[in-house]
Amino acid sequence: MNLNVGVIRGDGIGPEIVAEAVKVLNKIGEVYGHTYTFKELLLGGASIDVHGIPLTEETIEEAKKCDAVLMGSIGGDPQTSPWYKLEPSKRPEAGLLKIRKELNLFANLRPAVLYDELRGACPLKEEITEGGFDMMIMRELTGGLYFGDRKTVEEDGVLTAYDSLTYNENEIRRIAKRAFDIAMKRRGKVTSVDKANVLDSSRLWRKVVEEVAEDYPEAALKHMLVDNCAMQLVKDPKQFDVILTENMFGDILSDEASMVTGSIGMLASASLNETKFGLYEPSGGSAPDIAGKGIANPIAAILSAAMMLRFSFDLDKEADAIEAAVNKVLKDGYRTIDIMSEGKTQVNTMQIGDLICERIA
Ligand code: NAD
Repeated sequence: MNLNVGVIRGDGIGPEIVAEAVKVLNKIGEVYGHTYTFKELLLGGASIDVHGIPLTEETIEEAKKCDAVLMGSIGGDPQTSPWYKLEPSKRPEAGLLKIRKELNLFANLRPAVLYDELRGACPLKEEITEGGFDMMIMRELTGGLYFGDRKTVEEDGVLTAYDSLTYNENEIRRIAKRAFDIAMKRRGKVTSVDKANVLDSSRLWRKVVEEVAEDYPEAALKHMLVDNCAMQLVKDPKQFDVILTENMFGDILSDEASMVTGSIGMLASASLNETKFGLYEPSGGSAPDIAGKGIANPIAAILSAAMMLRFSFDLDKEADAIEAAVNKVLKDGYRTIDIMSEGKTQVNTMQIGDLICERIA
């Protein structure tokens, strides 16, 4: 199979970690007989340096022609980088928001995995994390409170602010379908999180999710109120497989879930649209404090490449091989500096990429 992949190396540690992800993809190509057409695209600070703006029409058009885009992180140090002297609409992050919108990426997927080998980094008690956990947060990304009408007005001499939370049934249906499809590639459990005891938008959410569930008789659906979910994530994270939720709840819960794993350099993410297209990137930022030193952890970028193979190309076996190789490297005691602990072998960005490649056979 030939895979048509856009590559946005990005800023800070982006180019260093994307290089390792591409290296791993090439190894997968050799072992499983795939080829790639990689198209280099500029976004963020790297685009500002060349074109004066963080995202050009050309990049958008080229990205649309790809089957998937693999991305490093965008942005620099807001205190020192000249990019942040530009007006907000010309700064690196504006390019990121625009490309997500242009590509209609409505579903954000963030796995939160606690590797048994990295249990020491988890802030939860050992009896809770025994055996690790592996959940996927699916967050609606283009609707809800962050995109609703808003205004601040003076009413009877008192400043009053309004934000509206709107969802229509189509927006809910398309993300619910995505969540069930992904659950069927995993353990088949969907926990739909809402606030249906208070909000109309949540009551519609629940109704539509139940309708979609009827098309997936092998999947198990459970509803959970968001406040309870926030507690359950720290009380019993093992109970979750796929968490499906709206934009703002997902924003908060996905950060909570990431933090309970304790290792930001390990966490991948994907943003998907209605087709098989996706934008795949690490959950962390561009880490300007360590950029150029060759010590960044590339595992989040490598696992993002595995997600790309699984969700945009349906290459599950190849994605499993990458995930297994990452696990094996951790089991064999190799660590980048951010996840280093006593008795383990510290390696740099390129070395851990090589070690992962060696374990893909
Ligand atoms: P950050 O995630 O870049 O860094 C936070 C800390 O985690 C730093 O100490 C950093 O060294 C460390 N870290 C992050 N990723 C790492 C990795 N792979 N290996 C080792 N250590 C790692 O967050 P920040 O400092 O708040 O933001 C820096 C820049 O990144 C800002 O410009 C911000 O806007 C941008 N950012 C971009 C994205 C994105 O591209 N999606 C996401 C978040 C932040």
